[in-house]
Amino acid sequence: MKFPVTPALKRSFWLQSAEPSLQASPALAGSHAADVVIVGGGFVGLWTALTLKEHEPDCRVMILEQDVCGGGASGRNGGFVMSWWPKIQSLTSFCSVEQASFLAHSAERAISELGEFCQRHQVEAAFRQKGWLWTATCAAHVDAWNGTLEACARLGAEPFARVSAREVARRTGSPVHLAGVLERSNATVQPAALVHGMRKVALEAGVEIYENTAVSEIQPGQPVRLLTAHGQVDARNVVLATNAWSSAIPELAKLFVPVGSSIVVTEPIAERLASLGWSGGEAITDSQLMVDYYRTTPDGRIAFGKGTGSLSYGSKMGPVFSEDPEGIDLTEADLRRTYPMLKDVAVTHRWSGPIDRTYDSLPVFNHLEGCPNIHYGIGWSGNGVGPSRIGGRILASLALGRQDQWSQCALVGRTCKAFPPEPVRFIGGSLVRRSVIRKERAELGGHRAKRLDVVMAGFAPAGLEDKS
Ligand SMILES: Cc1cc2nc3c(=O)[nH]c(=O)nc-3n(C[C@H](O)[C@H](O)[C@H](O)COP(=O)(O)OP(=O)(O)OC[C@H]3O[C@@H](n4cnc5c(N)ncnc54)[C@H](O)[C@@H]3O)c2cc1C
Repeated sequence: MKFPVTPALKRSFWLQSAEPSLQASPALAGSHAADVVIVGGGFVGLWTALTLKEHEPDCRVMILEQDVCGGGASGRNGGFVMSWWPKIQSLTSFCSVEQASFLAHSAERAISELGEFCQRHQVEAAFRQKGWLWTATCAAHVDAWNGTLEACARLGAEPFARVSAREVARRTGSPVHLAGVLERSNATVQPAALVHGMRKVALEAGVEIYENTAVSEIQPGQPVRLLTAHGQVDARNVVLATNAWSSAIPELAKLFVPVGSSIVVTEPIAERLASLGWSGGEAITDSQLMVDYYRTTPDGRIAFGKGTGSLSYGSKMGPVFSEDPEGIDLTEADLRRTYPMLKDVAVTHRWSGPIDRTYDSLPVFNHLEGCPNIHYGIGWSGNGVGPSRIGGRILASLALGRQDQWSQCALVGRTCKAFPPEPVRFIGGSLVRRSVIRKERAELGGHRAKRLDVVMAGFAPAGLEDKS
């Protein structure tokens, strides 16, 4: 099984501003043996390593990261720490009611657990638990959350509170917000600072981290042999925590499609934000499928992101997942539309990144076919900052062969709808994406979307939230 070696992505604002002087760990050299090797040093890999060490402190755990920890999605996201309540309808479509409830409650608890982790280990990751406002920015999107709220109510849960139109406009500082609901448990973080904190705690727990160490080949067996440019490791168990890069493995490439998301960050404007009334620290999204997500930073900037859905032929990890000019333009245009009163405010940072989107936007865990000791957890679909905590628990239990609530949960070994092969995947996906763009432009402009665009948009995978 070969992995193409991909160049490092353009650095995000978060990585640039979190401990810029941090030295990378040395690259792997020579021959080694380990109990568990984790490929990928993002949130999923790091939580897996930390959980393995909690269960078995003497277990020899290695993380091999082709770039630096957080160089992938974990250091370049919006920093929204979300639950799985917005996906409750998707969960109940393949889980029992008890499982859906267990997973949704666990994901909600993982948010506070993250805050506790930061406090316990003095990780300065700007954890702020001020809630998430899920809003509508056009008439067509008002009440998009009704089905989700009803599904929660059927499980006896009430994670969302309806917020009056006036209150939504007041709290977001923009009259484009017509309605909304607040999920109080949600938080924001400085994601790269969180990665650095987790990396430090993992090193202290005895996890061996090798950066600038791309795994170029995996030879299945017992042990599994992993090859890198200057070394090799024989591992009793392997965990693939490789997010969108997993598309290099044909069996995994069917389960998800790498899609782009871009973020722009403004200069600091704390006083302007206060005068708009957007000073509560809430995370905000609109209800587009190509979702706009935005938040403020502790130093008074706006970080404004958009799920642009950019694709690459063959799901290859190309430059579109590093700095996508079209995606960045779409993102900045939505920032200006949402906050027209800030048109003079400069954008100082811009970048893009890959999202590993499954059809239902929930992750899947399993082992590779015929390889019971090579486990994977992929398909975070743009909501991995909080749920990766759960992913770490699942993958650690799978790697240690533990029979527990995590290894036996409904996300493990579930059947996922497969994406078509090329060229249909790219050509069809691009046509669907264009239709989604036209449909959402029409809706935001207060017009009726063309029937063909509505039909074509219906082929797109589910978004960040299940919508009515
Ligand atoms: C622009 C953007 C915005 C987002 N916003 C949010 C948000 O606000 N909230 C949220 O919850 N989620 C968000 N996400 C998603 C979130 O960032 C991810 O779900 C989460 O970080 C998952 O982490 P991971 O460990 O799976 O992936 P990653 O952090 O990408 O880690 C995978 C790692 O594997 C490494 N790797 C790959 N192949 C190899 C190899 N062959 N050898 C060695 N190493 C390898 C990569 O370099 C990478 O560092 C966003 C993502 C993007 C791109």
